[in-house]
Amino acid sequence: MIRIAFIGLGNMGGGMAANQARAQRRVMAYDLSKTALDKAAGAGCQAAGSAAEAVAEAEAVITMLPAGSHVRQVYAEEVLPNAPRSALLIDCSTIDVESARAVAAQAKASGFRFADAPVSGGTAAADAGTLAFMVGCDEADFPAVQAALEPMSRITVRAGDHGAGQAAKICNNMVLGVSMIGVCEALALAEKLGLDPLKFFEISSQSSGQCWSLTSYCPWPGPVPAAPSNRGYEGGFATAMMLKDLKLAQEAAARAGAAAPLGATAEGLYALFDRLGYGGKDFSAILELFRGRIATAHEAAM
Ligand code: NAD
Repeated sequence: MIRIAFIGLGNMGGGMAANQARAQRRVMAYDLSKTALDKAAGAGCQAAGSAAEAVAEAEAVITMLPAGSHVRQVYAEEVLPNAPRSALLIDCSTIDVESARAVAAQAKASGFRFADAPVSGGTAAADAGTLAFMVGCDEADFPAVQAALEPMSRITVRAGDHGAGQAAKICNNMVLGVSMIGVCEALALAEKLGLDPLKFFEISSQSSGQCWSLTSYCPWPGPVPAAPSNRGYEGGFATAMMLKDLKLAQEAAARAGAAAPLGATAEGLYALFDRLGYGGKDFSAILELFRGRIATAHEAAM
């Protein structure tokens, strides 16, 4: 039985670890949150008392943590000093390219194989085992990475060397943030012009305005039953997470000397939406900002 250590059992990691256990792997799981740990234990994982304990006998270590600072700390203090050198280390969190490369260099210097492998697909795909993984790793290590990720994945692509997985992820999410705002602007304009937004969906989803944000994740309730717009924009991909990814893209663009002005505008709009108190709502809820239907938390309480 393959021995997996899984650290970070939140919205994403919880479902991912459960799929590893479902595939008959022995999963030693750890999270700072007892609730998350108990849930993982209920899904067939073994609860470890610490990250150090979780990785002690692992063949593969998978981390799914909030941001670069958490990943740097967990690797420096828990994983690298305690995992067997033979363990394959895979970080699936979305973090900055520099942190991914720094952790990869430390892991390599300590004799480990490492991959950055962020995901696309959200919590539904994490639960269903249908995530898309974009991987940065040494070419020789890719088959082992693919095998380790298999129970959680629909598709796994090697983007390039260390850091390339994170680069692919932030570029992809910049497209997503920008395209969602474009779709929301268009739906709000359609409404203002007296055009039924559902009719606009029918036309644009079969015309050149077609894109994932419109057709697979429609921010207007109705046409796409699985979209968060049909459940009050709860669950899905939080505005605060989208903002984090757009910030990562802008920081990367500034460092690389790249121009990404639409990404910057999207970051500004999501920062505003977050400031208005909507950080926990799905990112497609920004439609309400363009419709002029936003209430601040203060107004909503009145
Ligand atoms: P989350 O906040 O729900 O989960 C993170 C978990 O990490 C929490 O349970 C937290 O307790 C745990 N944690 C933090 N520090 C820890 C430590 N030192 N040791 C052990 N556990 C620790 O976040 P999430 O939504 O699961 O996202 C995780 C990552 O996946 C993020 O980088 C996010 O950007 C990325 N991501 C999220 C989505 C999504 O739809 N939620 C989609 C794609 C990628």
